[in-house]
Amino acid sequence: MEHSSVDHRRPHSLWEDTLTDAERCAEQPFGESIAADITVIGAGLTGLWSAYYLADKLPDASIAVIDASGVGFGASGRNGGWASALLPMGLERVEREHGKDSAIALQTAMHETLDEIEHVLDREQIDAGVQRGGTITAARSAPQLARVTHEIDTYERFGFGDDYTLLDRHTAAEMCAMTELIGAMYTPHCLAVHPAKLTHGVARAVVRKGVRIYAPVRALSIRRGFVDTDNGTISTKYIVQATEGYTSQLSRQHRNMVPLYSMMIATEPLPDDMWESIGLEQRPTFDDTRHLIIYGQRTADGRFAFGGRGAPYHFGSAIRQAFDTNATMKDRIHQALIELFPMTREVEVTHHWGGPLGIPRNWACSVNADWDTGLITAGGYVGDGVSATNLFGRIVADLIADREHDAGQNPRSELLRLPVVGPLSRRWEPEPIRWIGINAGRVAARVADRSEHQTGKESRFWGGVIDGLLRR
Ligand SMILES: Cc1cc2nc3c(=O)[nH]c(=O)nc-3n(C[C@H](O)[C@H](O)[C@H](O)COP(=O)(O)OP(=O)(O)OC[C@H]3O[C@@H](n4cnc5c(N)ncnc54)[C@H](O)[C@@H]3O)c2cc1C
Repeated sequence: MEHSSVDHRRPHSLWEDTLTDAERCAEQPFGESIAADITVIGAGLTGLWSAYYLADKLPDASIAVIDASGVGFGASGRNGGWASALLPMGLERVEREHGKDSAIALQTAMHETLDEIEHVLDREQIDAGVQRGGTITAARSAPQLARVTHEIDTYERFGFGDDYTLLDRHTAAEMCAMTELIGAMYTPHCLAVHPAKLTHGVARAVVRKGVRIYAPVRALSIRRGFVDTDNGTISTKYIVQATEGYTSQLSRQHRNMVPLYSMMIATEPLPDDMWESIGLEQRPTFDDTRHLIIYGQRTADGRFAFGGRGAPYHFGSAIRQAFDTNATMKDRIHQALIELFPMTREVEVTHHWGGPLGIPRNWACSVNADWDTGLITAGGYVGDGVSATNLFGRIVADLIADREHDAGQNPRSELLRLPVVGPLSRRWEPEPIRWIGINAGRVAARVADRSEHQTGKESRFWGGVIDGLLRR
């Protein structure tokens, strides 16, 4: 394994540890006030993809990206590496709120986003350990099978029947030999990626296009035409705010987005004979449909990278380096991996880390433009952001390019009609209601999973409690 000089502020993730110095994108400091036509706050994938497409669409514009810590410091550099076609809203909700055609258009755009990511990685020669192995969503109990079947029926109703298929127990086990399997859903729409290599690779491509990336530079406040930072002021025409899980730390944005921690472990590389008995040969990412989400991938170098939700929400939307690890969560996630794949019991866990992802109050990711201030915000992916950031980056670029160009010569792009372009979510409740509601929902999810496991029946009561506490 290649080790690079890991910045002490970053989590000790597998991804950081296996990123080489040559793959890392170097940022530059700035010591006095600067000017840029477009300022992007946040060098995660939302900010970087936005800069990437903006540089293409507006080649004469000066673009500055700033990050309080550095490229890929946030969720983009430390996630589970599922570049999926998932969105937090689900087709049925998008249909209810925007109509069936909009739901179909959005899902189609997500499918096409995976092609676009592969295309850019190829064009920019970014090796992010990518494999399009799809996703296998296991059903390990009758309620889980009912949820999987419902999902497949829904996809079919929207015309995606060929993309999401039901696997019987035997076929599912051949792909992925999990315990207690009774069936699974399979879709080819997912890439397994190395998140840090992806994020730094995109950042290097952005720099090659002439974009300046500054770090560590923290935005302190945003006002029309200016971003005030701890290094000086940036005068600017457009501001793209891509701070996702960290949004609550910005002045006057405390209740816009809740930071919820997702936690991960990684194992040492498994021996070949163990992989032969487990499967996952084409590296499909995997999960099941329990309430407290788990997610995993077989990495390009033959490890398990495996994570889950359920870490506490911290009062006042606090974010601290100390929250990046959590011994209880590490044990729970490790135990969950052993339950799925008992043969990994003796395999060493080499890494444990986590980080905040962003949840808006309406649990729906969106891109919003306020042309009075020139501020565009993008994010709120609720843990499904790796590929959505690419779509959102293209939407951000189209919004600004459309604004800059003569509308007659530059017809509005199809992307701007997608139902993610719209008004901001309402704000979260003040504390302590936020803390009580989110943590109660977390406990309810764990109780629901335990009850379903013990009884084999759907826990309607606890399911209802979760929906009541955590949904819109
Ligand atoms: C452990 C974990 C696992 C996940 N697994 C998956 C997965 O497998 N698949 C999936 O689709 N999604 C996953 N997600 C979610 C996904 O990673 C995110 O949705 C996505 O990366 C968000 O990208 P972003 O650029 O919007 O935000 P981030 O990557 O969080 O970037 C925000 C950046 O803004 C910077 N910033 C914040 N405040 C300021 C400021 N004031 N001034 C300057 N800079 C600032 C931060 O330093 C950070 O670098 C996971 C998230 C976590 C935490």
